[in-house]
Amino acid sequence: MEILVSDIPEEGLHLEGSFPKKIFALDPKDSIRAVGDVSYEVDIFSLEEMLAFAGQLRGEFELQCGLCLEYFPYQANFSMWSSELDLEDGQRAFDLSEVVREDTLLLLPSHPRCDEFGATDCCPRAHLLIEGEQEPIEEVAEKEKADDTWSALDDWQEKGGSQ
Ligand SMILES: [Zn+2]
Repeated sequence: MEILVSDIPEEGLHLEGSFPKKIFALDPKDSIRAVGDVSYEVDIFSLEEMLAFAGQLRGEFELQCGLCLEYFPYQANFSMWSSELDLEDGQRAFDLSEVVREDTLLLLPSHPRCDEFGATDCCPRAHLLIEGEQEPIEEVAEKEKADDTWSALDDWQEKGGSQ
């Protein structure tokens, strides 16, 4: 969806609509699957040599659990979306669907777990790890640290992971 930079008034351009899931053009083996349209509501401002975007993005996805590798449903609702686009010399138009595509993929959680988002009570793979394999638990712990979600790890330990 091409938008002319010259069409953006000083007070900003408000747009609402949706793009079909095909804009994502994801490989079926990708850890992200787009399930439906992605809808947007955005105010676009034209600043010197750049555009600023503020609004919200919504869409249905399936994400692959980083542990059990099963796909689980994920409802994206990014209500505080903001973004910028640098304009090239002489650039007069841009494609809004590309901005929506890139930002949505960026905002989706990386290395998600199925139980983190309520798709399962406890990831089946996490249970297997607690049963015996020591090394993967540490890997998971590292990952949890990086993601700053210690509470999930505490939950496992209470269920017997530290015995
Ligand atoms: Zn899982």
